[in-house]
Amino acid sequence: MHLPDFQYLAPKDPAELAAMLAEHGDAARILSGGTDLLVQMKSPGLRPDYLIDITGLEELSNIKFDDGAGLVIGGAAKLEAVMDTPVVKEKYHGLWQSIETIGARQIRTMGSLGGNLCNASPAADTPPALVAFGAEVTIGNAEGDRSILLEDFILGNRQTALATGEYLKTITLPAPPENSASAYHHFRVRGGMEIAMAAVAVYLELDAKAQTISDAKIVLGVVGPAPIRATGAEQMLIGQKPDEALLQKAAQSCADQSRPIDDYRASAEYRREILKVLFERAFDDAFTNAAR
Ligand SMILES: Cc1cc2nc3c(=O)[nH]c(=O)nc-3n(C[C@H](O)[C@H](O)[C@H](O)COP(=O)(O)OP(=O)(O)OC[C@H]3O[C@@H](n4cnc5c(N)ncnc54)[C@H](O)[C@@H]3O)c2cc1C
Repeated sequence: MHLPDFQYLAPKDPAELAAMLAEHGDAARILSGGTDLLVQMKSPGLRPDYLIDITGLEELSNIKFDDGAGLVIGGAAKLEAVMDTPVVKEKYHGLWQSIETIGARQIRTMGSLGGNLCNASPAADTPPALVAFGAEVTIGNAEGDRSILLEDFILGNRQTALATGEYLKTITLPAPPENSASAYHHFRVRGGMEIAMAAVAVYLELDAKAQTISDAKIVLGVVGPAPIRATGAEQMLIGQKPDEALLQKAAQSCADQSRPIDDYRASAEYRREILKVLFERAFDDAFTNAAR
């Protein structure tokens, strides 16, 4: 099917972007890499009159890190650019792993991190990894900016907290402390061209002796309409020195908190079983790195 007609707009800066969004409201859509949007426009349903291209906005493509502010990623930064930023692999390994699994280099070069979040697919790879870091998003609009936790930004299947006239400006991840590490593990049969059946992101902070868990964030992906914080497993782990019995209880708690669907890719029961294995792998990966 052909792309439907639309008017192409290219703002020169974020202020002009906000003005265009305010003027055209729901008749406009932001075009970033187009790897989701253009596919959706070729199917019946989505027919925006205006596409507002943000790829030329340098302010939205920057990726910066410092020990105080942490990692600040522009809403239009490409997935491949984020992955190629050395500090991401070094300090935000779970995020790096979640991007590395996406599509292929061509998709990561076109697609943006902001687009992956705003598209809000329950199967998207980066949201669970980012939620595990306690990521915050800054939302821009013609009136000014507002910041919220990413956890509160993705509301459900294809639903975000963006109101008409708003756009995702930046994604901020706090600087991780010493003795902390993260991991993202997923399961799919045919690599990045297929969506995952289940995924788990783990973020851990250990005490000074690197033995007891002082903080934990466990996030389940693809097994609910939005990323799910496995709060039961988190509470079991915090303050503890992990052993096999505790990890098995935490894995079961992850499965119990998940809300997977049954479909042609996998049954809900199978996804719950896979989730337990993914939790143990991701935990082991993060714990080993945090203890180094
Ligand atoms: C072959 C293929 C394989 C893929 N594999 C994977 C995979 O393994 N894992 C995975 O997670 N994804 C996968 N994807 C999906 C896709 O590549 C990602 O979701 C991508 O990150 C979307 O970014 P984009 O810049 O292309 O967004 P676009 O398609 O341009 O936009 C997506 C949506 O977000 C909105 N939007 C974009 N940026 C903003 C912003 N700054 N503010 C407000 N709204 C915005 C758009 O209006 C649109 O509604 C795949 C896609 C393809 C085609």
